[in-house]
Amino acid sequence: MEITLGIDLGTTNSCVAYLEGGRPLVIPNKEGGRVTPSVVAFLKNGERLVGQIAKRQMLLNPERTVSAVKRLMGRKFNSPEVGSLKERLPYKLVEAENGDIWVEVGGKRYAPPEISALILTYLRECAEEKLGKKIEKAVVTVPAYFNDAQRQATKDAGKIAGLDVIRIINEPTAASLAYGFEKERNEIIAIYDFGGGTFDMTILEVREGVFNVLSTSGNTFLGGEDFDARIMNWLIDEFKTETGIDLSHDNLAIQRLKDAAEKAKIELSSVEEVEINLPFIATDETGVKHLTRRLTREKLESLVEDIIIRTKEPMERALKDADILVEDISRVILVGGQTRMPRIIQEVKEFFGKDPYRDINPDEVVSIGAALQGGVISGEVKDIVLLDITPLSLGVETKNDTFTVIIPRNTTIPTKKSMIFTTTADNQTKVRVHVLQGEREIASENKSLGNFDLVGIAPAPKGIPQIEVTFEIDVDGIVKVTARDRDTGKEQTMEIHPSSGLTPQEIEKMIEDAKKYKELDRKRKREKGKRAEIEAIISALENFYNKFKNKLSSEKKIEIMDAVSEGKSVLNDENIELEKLEEIYGTLKSFSEDLERAIVDTLEKEAQ
Ligand code: AMP
Repeated sequence: MEITLGIDLGTTNSCVAYLEGGRPLVIPNKEGGRVTPSVVAFLKNGERLVGQIAKRQMLLNPERTVSAVKRLMGRKFNSPEVGSLKERLPYKLVEAENGDIWVEVGGKRYAPPEISALILTYLRECAEEKLGKKIEKAVVTVPAYFNDAQRQATKDAGKIAGLDVIRIINEPTAASLAYGFEKERNEIIAIYDFGGGTFDMTILEVREGVFNVLSTSGNTFLGGEDFDARIMNWLIDEFKTETGIDLSHDNLAIQRLKDAAEKAKIELSSVEEVEINLPFIATDETGVKHLTRRLTREKLESLVEDIIIRTKEPMERALKDADILVEDISRVILVGGQTRMPRIIQEVKEFFGKDPYRDINPDEVVSIGAALQGGVISGEVKDIVLLDITPLSLGVETKNDTFTVIIPRNTTIPTKKSMIFTTTADNQTKVRVHVLQGEREIASENKSLGNFDLVGIAPAPKGIPQIEVTFEIDVDGIVKVTARDRDTGKEQTMEIHPSSGLTPQEIEKMIEDAKKYKELDRKRKREKGKRAEIEAIISALENFYNKFKNKLSSEKKIEIMDAVSEGKSVLNDENIELEKLEEIYGTLKSFSEDLERAIVDTLEKEAQ
């Protein structure tokens, strides 16, 4: 059966799963990690790093390392959501001609879906390597509050990565699916999602296999990284008190401190006390300084208490927006790596008055749900009926900048709905249909999806003509809007393909670029391999020289030294081509083989 990947494309980390024999399994990445940091680095030499290795050098190379690109997906440069990001993100954001947002690294511009595509490509390759077959299909998850453009941008990213995204589903829905809650009964579920950089609270209603998002709330700038920063600042303060040295301006020290802080935090979810050990963290006139500190779980909790308290307000807001009481919630699911922290589990339990579900790893549960959804679509999983819903209301602009909703949000799709409108002036022969999406009552506050004119309406006093406007949404979320004059039968139609702002040509170009890079990456990998082989021969020659120098003629010694220094100079040259590396490797290899043969002969002769 063809494999469909379930991908949780997260702000901080991503995770990929698939179904084997109907059972969902997480696919580890090439480094063996079950989750992959959503980080991409564009090095000066053109190399691109994805995942853990990109994260490891993030603070040392801030302008060339792109993290949290999910925050930029489907956004306009001048939108309020992007405003504060311009200062917060260490890399550069620029405005595209069409008002979209682009990331600029080393003078080159990338659309956010293009960067997300690098993460998706990496995950696809990990899966292909592991499963030994080509994979082309995926279900990708997005936050429940993502609008049409953000969802489409996610789809575009999949396309650039060579994946057909057969469905986009909401992260909280995926988490509920992973627990198999949709088939049990009609109920209300709360999903508490605390990841690396964001906190999301969602209230879902499940009714006959259909998930309805009743409310979402949260804080897009609250996450596990804030916990790491607290530990890091504590370490900096302690070190300063002890030695008088301020580490906060030393990038290398900060990178090490940040990694150590996160590691300590993670360990403290299962043990009561850890030792943080960072040798050679600084030097002053008195010599080298090491940082060693014990951190207890209790101390960590006191450092982050206020952050945990801050999640309460969005939880209360979510209940209020859903118009329910905490008692109406029958289950609570924990999502996001940070919810492994015992203090958070306790907080959630106290708030909801029940034990939250956490049997499935909270950083894997969303990808597992996505893999199950893939199985539902392919027919592999039979006992789940799952229908998609529209995330935002659709409608038209009417008199006085009013937004008139035709298809309310959370309507199950496919769907078709009509409404009758009329003219506002006598003898009006034309009406403009302005299609919008959003939740605001003022039309201009919503997102415009396009407009068209219905012409040829028979002249009549205002209020008499009957214009029927029909909205139809197919299973892929494509909206068709038709306006029809009931009197004359005249009709005009517009099809709206949700758009992230990337044109099909741009997407095509990005797909081509990705292919080009794949070849380049392969070449680089071969280059790296060759360099390692040359390095191994050089070190073998050096060993050989040291071991047998008493038995070697002075000409031979010079020959060996020349070969070693030629090899070293090649290794020091960053720009040398693969072909040249291969040639030098060949020469060195046969030289060392000859040398070995000669010494074996000499030793044998001596033995006789
Ligand atoms: P996510 O975005 O869901 O992958 O969550 C990532 C966040 O979870 C990061 O800040 C991690 O440091 C944090 N995290 C992962 N495992 C643990 C753990 N065992 N205890 C506490 N935090 C964790």
